[in-house]
Amino acid sequence: MNGLDGKVAVVTGAGSGIGRATALRFAAEGASVVVADIAEDEGKETVELIEDDGGAATFVDVDVSDAESVQRMVDTAVETYGGLDFANNNAGILTGFAEVTDIEEENWDRLLDVNLKGVWACMKAELPVMEEGGGGAIVNTASEAGLVGMGGLSSYVASKHGVVGLTKSVALEYAGRGVRVNAVAPGPTETNIQANSRGGSADPSSMPFDTSAMVNVPMGRAAKPEEMAGAIAFLCSDDASYITGHTLPVDGGQAAD
Ligand code: NAD
Repeated sequence: MNGLDGKVAVVTGAGSGIGRATALRFAAEGASVVVADIAEDEGKETVELIEDDGGAATFVDVDVSDAESVQRMVDTAVETYGGLDFANNNAGILTGFAEVTDIEEENWDRLLDVNLKGVWACMKAELPVMEEGGGGAIVNTASEAGLVGMGGLSSYVASKHGVVGLTKSVALEYAGRGVRVNAVAPGPTETNIQANSRGGSADPSSMPFDTSAMVNVPMGRAAKPEEMAGAIAFLCSDDASYITGHTLPVDGGQAAD
């Protein structure tokens, strides 16, 4: 892919799922990768996988809902690799299925803090470094839930609609300043997000990622995390040099239905 070799990328939530696959993909394309996650063991495992493949990576312990912690993540990129060119602001959580009146305030706050405030905090820290370095590209991980409503998942849906709106607005702010800002909207993807979800009824049969959800996917299957990584790498690459402010559904045709 054009324009990734020799660059520096940060990926949040890179200890698992889509983030891990994206970190591995950036490294395979020749970028040095800051692997950022709240889960230290999993993040360090991603670094090992990259190094085993001959790539360069470093782990940073980050809670994306904490702006100071996020600033340290970006500082690490600059101190370790001399700058920052790309970011996939990807860390996210899913709470269990709950109607709006059953959502606990604590769960609402935590989900919005990680999924929406976290993306803002990352961009706030990343953008000045990218601009100063002559430009860059950001891809935020939204969701199909950022494009349509889903009963029982209103806090998650609200957070992901927020990510889509934030992406559009920041793209406009930076369109003339060398930084492109896009998002991906994954459909159901085989990751640990369901196992990692907390709160709500946590009834697996009502979660969006079990096999019953696949009837809504025209391609009839869930995605592999690597299929998200490919789209994220493309949006960072020079092949996407005139694309900014968009949310790309990577969803087996779901958004077209
Ligand atoms: P995952 O649970 O496999 O990975 C998420 C990673 O984020 C984990 O390593 C976790 O430790 C990390 N994380 C959680 N909270 C964090 C925090 N506060 N700070 C830093 N790291 C944190 O899930 P995934 O499916 O790979 O999710 C990645 C993104 O993709 C999320 O934003 C999710 O909403 C989005 N997404 C996933 C799907 C899907 O079907 N899996 C669909 C649409 C969107």
